[in-house]
Amino acid sequence: MLNLKNIDTKIVLKVLFTGLLMLDVTNAWAQNNPAVPQMAGQKMFQSDSQLTYFNQDRYEMVELASPEFAEAPKNVILFIGDGLGVTHVSAALTVNGGQLNLNHMKHIGFSQTQSKDRYVTDSAAGGTAIATGQRVNNGAIAMDASGEPIPSILHISEQNGKATGLVATSDIAHATPASFIAHQPSRSMYEEIAADFLKTDIDLFIGGGLNNFANRSDGVDLTLALKEKGYQVFYSLEESACASKAPMAVFTAPGHNPEYDERGNMLELATKKAIEVLSKDENGFFVMIEGSQIDWASHHNITPYLLGEVLDLDKAVGVALEFAAQNGETLVIVTSDHETGGLALHDGSYEHGFIEARYSSDNHTGVMVPVFAYGPGAELFLGIYDNTDIFHKIHSLFGF
Ligand SMILES: [Zn+2]
Repeated sequence: MLNLKNIDTKIVLKVLFTGLLMLDVTNAWAQNNPAVPQMAGQKMFQSDSQLTYFNQDRYEMVELASPEFAEAPKNVILFIGDGLGVTHVSAALTVNGGQLNLNHMKHIGFSQTQSKDRYVTDSAAGGTAIATGQRVNNGAIAMDASGEPIPSILHISEQNGKATGLVATSDIAHATPASFIAHQPSRSMYEEIAADFLKTDIDLFIGGGLNNFANRSDGVDLTLALKEKGYQVFYSLEESACASKAPMAVFTAPGHNPEYDERGNMLELATKKAIEVLSKDENGFFVMIEGSQIDWASHHNITPYLLGEVLDLDKAVGVALEFAAQNGETLVIVTSDHETGGLALHDGSYEHGFIEARYSSDNHTGVMVPVFAYGPGAELFLGIYDNTDIFHKIHSLFGF
């Protein structure tokens, strides 16, 4: 007889049960939410295999040199986990046996994520608040209600002589990276957003979305314009391996990048590449690196996808922390634009790397999200504050 009071037995049973209850029903919800890519075979009813996750590929936290930090940061590496809430972090911590690279980041606060017109933000308004320090209506990309563009911390860093970069595991013209570089009334204006990249002198960008640059409805090939401006244009990270000088555009997919299991360690490699290229600038740099698909996994309520994406982001954070600990003049921030999924954890095991989740939503929620900081100025990120304060804190630390 199995003793169901024994937690280990229960968890083993749950893990065995995983994959047995697959219902293949098309999800009408996903079709009505163009911001979230549809998945083949998306399920309307979540089976156990979609609620639970069993991590069979644990990793160790990076080991950091004893840092000696400068008084103020010369460089800022800002990670945004799209849709990343405290529960997502808690789930990732559990399935990786209590170890995350985030554990190195001792200065932790909370960001209130509301937009100008809604309690629950979307990624355009959420990204804009962090990028520009101003709350805008949902859907707007760094543009206020009267159509005025709002400069982002990336633009301001550029004007002050710093190198700048963007990395995303989505299309690089998707809402979050777009908020840092473009000004458009709607997040769905992907081709206009791509054209806005040419109006800046961004030093490096890596992500999907080649089609918005090279396969456009107006017939213009923006990769040619990029090359005319002096950019090296690559069509994979492997292709960019030998290049280490800015400016550089690396397109990793025609549209969005695939999910974490197909994408491999793209985000870690892209983070390394961004640091390698941007750190050559003697005035310092600002880069925003997005783990884009935590949000989509959470919209779809698929726990294995969700955990795969959160752990993928944490590995990239490890790369940045290793650099920051050596460098001493680099502030690393990890935060989120909003929580997605209304995630709750109903069971789990640090020992077995197991989690059982429930979702109260297939959309974003209004809960506060965590802000982790490491490096010079990290203490400014303690406490509870508006999402817009993240911009103001970076702005003042840079001394602009
Ligand atoms: Zn979303």
